[in-house]
Amino acid sequence: MSKPLALLTGGSTGIGHHLVTALVEAGYAVAFSYRASPAPAEALAQDLVARGHAARALACDVGDKVQVEAFVGAAIAWAGQPPSLLINNAGIQAWAPLLDLAEDQWDDVLRTNLKGCFLNTQVVGRIMAEAGQGGAIVNIGSGCNKLAFPNLVSYTASKGGIEQFTKSAAVELGRYGITVNCVAPGAIATERTAEEAPDYAASWAPITPLGRVGTPEDIAGPVLFFAGPGARYVTGQTLWVDGGVFSRAAWPYS
Ligand code: NDP
Repeated sequence: MSKPLALLTGGSTGIGHHLVTALVEAGYAVAFSYRASPAPAEALAQDLVARGHAARALACDVGDKVQVEAFVGAAIAWAGQPPSLLINNAGIQAWAPLLDLAEDQWDDVLRTNLKGCFLNTQVVGRIMAEAGQGGAIVNIGSGCNKLAFPNLVSYTASKGGIEQFTKSAAVELGRYGITVNCVAPGAIATERTAEEAPDYAASWAPITPLGRVGTPEDIAGPVLFFAGPGARYVTGQTLWVDGGVFSRAAWPYS
């Protein structure tokens, strides 16, 4: 396959689902993972293939090293080349006060969001380093990279970890010509956020300087920037894609 290979974790729904489409439209062959939602993942791949793109959905739990190795191996066999881009997007949340959060909820979130990012980066990073052609890795963070959200302690800790993991990986992989950056979305309207809060858009739009919630489409441009030639000397950075909401101070005056 002549198209460069991009891997993406968590492409079955939400932001990842849209990123898969944006990547194939940008000329990548895209292999993406899913865990619990095979139907939308397979439907997306079939739809993109029917439109002449190269897309492949593969089951893989990002927190399981054996499955991550199998995912990456299957993607390389499919594309006939090593990946030039990895997007660590898969993520989950557990809403509970710190004093009530169950141990297994903490473990699930850290395992998916942080360990998953580590495992995919390590497996893909080794292959990129051996191939000797550089590459780009983009981690999907959150406002929680730097800000504490109430009742979201495990998620906040995991995304704070993503912030520092991005820098560590950038420092260690730079010698191989691999860039590692983070896109940190603000409030993005997805099926999940609509389920969690039916008034999501109405709640976030008034406190967002650009006056609206974001869409998955808003995330694609910054991801493609980090993946592309315009960012070849950019690494270890986090770009906020939040309509300005996380630049805003909590303010007690009207
Ligand atoms: P979704 O719940 O819609 O998507 C999450 C994706 O991750 C799904 O494709 C899901 O696949 C996948 N996933 C979850 N666990 C695993 C696992 N163990 N292995 C493989 N895949 C897994 O959420 P969003 O699109 O909203 O979020 C995507 C990313 O964006 C996350 O990292 C999130 O933290 C971040 N983000 C989102 C914001 C928002 O407002 N929406 C704001 C800030 C950050 P499946 O269903 O098949 O398990």
